[in-house]
Amino acid sequence: MIEERQEATFIDEQVIIEALEAGKKYSPLAVREVISKSLELNGLSLEELAALLWVDDPELEHEVYTAARKIKEQIYGKRIVFFAPLYVSNHCVNNCKYCAYKIDNDYPRRRLSMDEIRREVKVIENMGHKRIALEAGEDPVNCPIEYITAAMKQIYDTASGNGTIRRINVNIAATTVEEYKMLKDAGVGTYVLFQETYHRDTYSKVHCGPKADYDWHTTAMDRAFAGGIDDVGMGVLYGLYDWRFETVALLMHAQYLDKTYGVGPHTISFPRLRPAYGMSLDNFPYIVNDNDFKRIVASLRLSVPYTGMILSTREEPFFREEVVALGISQISAGSMTGVGEYSGLDEKATSGAVDDRNTCGRPDTPQFDVGDHRSLDEIIYDLLPEGYIPSFCTACYRSGRTGENFMALAKTAHIHEMCQPNALLTFQEYLCDYASPATRQRAVPAMERALMDVVPENLRQECRNRLERIKAGERDLYF
Ligand code: SF4
Ligand code: SF4
Repeated sequence: MIEERQEATFIDEQVIIEALEAGKKYSPLAVREVISKSLELNGLSLEELAALLWVDDPELEHEVYTAARKIKEQIYGKRIVFFAPLYVSNHCVNNCKYCAYKIDNDYPRRRLSMDEIRREVKVIENMGHKRIALEAGEDPVNCPIEYITAAMKQIYDTASGNGTIRRINVNIAATTVEEYKMLKDAGVGTYVLFQETYHRDTYSKVHCGPKADYDWHTTAMDRAFAGGIDDVGMGVLYGLYDWRFETVALLMHAQYLDKTYGVGPHTISFPRLRPAYGMSLDNFPYIVNDNDFKRIVASLRLSVPYTGMILSTREEPFFREEVVALGISQISAGSMTGVGEYSGLDEKATSGAVDDRNTCGRPDTPQFDVGDHRSLDEIIYDLLPEGYIPSFCTACYRSGRTGENFMALAKTAHIHEMCQPNALLTFQEYLCDYASPATRQRAVPAMERALMDVVPENLRQECRNRLERIKAGERDLYF
């Protein structure tokens, strides 16, 4: 049984530094061997990942990117899973230097009432989303676990037309085994907690409040597993410390979870520091440039081939599409990062009010500035000519294919035979219920092409049948 309080000894800074030093010495030939090994889809060691992160020869870099694209297409095809974040409370007792919700930012705080949550969820459902990432600041008094589980119930119970939310991933502060059990009982999909930085000194410099306890934060996933949650999502906030150190540390954490619990992280996210109310990027010396960011994504794609990788709307549209090709399997779209902002958007759209986000500390002050302001439909419209197929699939979670069961299937690639037909079924729902006429038109040849990737033939035929049933009005069909 897990101790509530543990030291995060599995993150060993000396081992990370040694891996980085060893990886730096890899010859081009040795790097090419690492690339070849990655194509066997068995993952890489810390040192091998480090070798990829040091690559600066453009030709070799190109080879890493080509391998990342190949692995991505082999495992995920051209599918992209969509979700929307929902910020329910900006009360926070912490003072993280990089976040607009920090306690030092003196503006009126709020948490959404259940009625307000219903309103927000309907806006999200009316965009076409089926997955929500629920987000909240840390405040045991104003935002206790009972509020979070009630919010989850409200989200699952809210329908708008054919729209329902079928999966809620939850991103809340590190907590106790008991509270993780409550999250599990409330139907959490993936429990997501970003480490922010694995570097202890930096961690203590940028945090103040309960979150400043590195060991409590870093061992949160152990307690989540002890509470029965078997899908966890990790991430580093790139820009707080050296990106090579953070990336090797992230893999170290992922390998530890895999070895200890038989299941690695379900997802890895790639948040990059963004401007936010009450902070300036000038105070952060480790900002990651676009090229290095691409290297991080591609190198991790080679290192953890079966882990879903997530990119948020922090990134700008053009760059986002470039990074998606290197290994991203999920993206957020149409995101609002302020509390109550989706409903506020509705009001602004009807009143014609101008966008004044981040100019003052209002209750709906966003946690950070969004870089991609396109609607879900606009993003889909832009991705279709690149051959991508949007997916709103949540089939595994609802069929009990989670945790160890899921990883066993994922690692043999069998699960991905089901992803393609499920993507088509859920995209067809989107096309029937939410798509603009232009997107609908653009989707016709894309759907036909994507259907040919469904194998074997009898599965393709059954997929065709179900697509017709959806066009005739049925919903929520999946394999
Ligand atoms: Fe609070 Fe999280 Fe923001 Fe820190 S990052 S101030 S814990 S909401
Ligand atoms: Fe994800 Fe499972 Fe759906 Fe594939 S079939 S997209 S793994 S939920």
